Amino acid sequence: MKFASEFRDPKAAKGLLAEIARVAGQIGATREKPVHIMEICGGHTHSIFRYGLDKLIHEGVEFIHGPGCPVCVLPRARVDECIQIAEKPGVIFTTFGDAMRVPGTKKSLLQAKADGADIRMVYSPLDALELARRNPTREVVFFGLGFETTTPSTALAIQQAAREGLTNFSVFCNHITVPEPIKALLDDPHMCLDGFIGPGHVSMVIGIHPYDFIARDYGKPLVVAGFEPTDLLQSVLMVLTQVAEGRAEIENQYARVVPEHGNKVSLAAIADVYERRPSFEWRGLGEIDASGLRIRPHYAAFDAEEKFGVGYAGMRTEVEEVEGCACGAVMTGRMKPVQCPQFGKGCTPEMPLGALMVSSEGACAAYWQYGGARAAAE
Ligand code: SF4
Repeated sequence: MKFASEFRDPKAAKGLLAEIARVAGQIGATREKPVHIMEICGGHTHSIFRYGLDKLIHEGVEFIHGPGCPVCVLPRARVDECIQIAEKPGVIFTTFGDAMRVPGTKKSLLQAKADGADIRMVYSPLDALELARRNPTREVVFFGLGFETTTPSTALAIQQAAREGLTNFSVFCNHITVPEPIKALLDDPHMCLDGFIGPGHVSMVIGIHPYDFIARDYGKPLVVAGFEPTDLLQSVLMVLTQVAEGRAEIENQYARVVPEHGNKVSLAAIADVYERRPSFEWRGLGEIDASGLRIRPHYAAFDAEEKFGVGYAGMRTEVEEVEGCACGAVMTGRMKPVQCPQFGKGCTPEMPLGALMVSSEGACAAYWQYGGARAAAE
């Protein structure tokens, strides 16, 4: 398959692994700890386990799995607020499938659907828009969730709804941004990171320059990477080479997809529809300044928080995370999934306790799917 098989070439992968071992060995001669590289994106975490890169890589490199899965970082309070909206009379609540099983305080959206709420899975916000056109007497709410990758499509749906004058369509906006949590991690004195693998899809929208502060202010390298095995191995090698040479730069391994300055059309739609929230709550990371987006006042008619008086527009309640759930520690690299006391016991993909076991991009689900189930049994 063109543009896929060449990035899975075993010979190329072996060559990269040998070069990684050489550079990691060179760095290892001057320090005791392995080089800690955080892959920010959940898609990269999934690829690392899928292709066994965590086992193939030289022992002088350790992957730290970052907070780049939007389902995983959604706090329980926001799931509760979704259910609050979905259970209102006359509402059709629409969501991507991966959010259906995220546990709230009392139940998930899937359980709320079983209890009678009209909750429907969609593949795009445009599906929700179509539902609103076909059901003019119902309120159709789209659960806008995700990083900069999905933010533009929600913005386009809101712009389209405004053009058509739809009055029964709104968005429960939970769109978040990548650079701010990276800054929060770098400001955490307990974090010990040597470099980053930057997200490919997000960077396709925002380009590579929003990461400049990581190299400039914190002296850490970041390499934007693709998702195939040789993409990831080449990116690890690029980070290691910077560490070995004492450089800290933002580099783009995924240049075949990621333009340096991002996608202008998407960025214009984002700028038109959203503004920054002063802060936004992240599961495991707490409140992070300017890390969430809300709908601008001139599109307030399409803002479900305003329409239903929930979330940041209503009375928010503090919700503690589940007792015994170590999602926060896993997402900040302080614990591996198998070290969580709940892994494979109180928490499995069939009965998830924490969000990292729900989403296919969650580190715990990836561990489980690619050998973790066996490790738990052992
Ligand atoms: S095993 Fe479950 S509870 Fe533990 S960190 Fe993973 S998702 Fe959270």
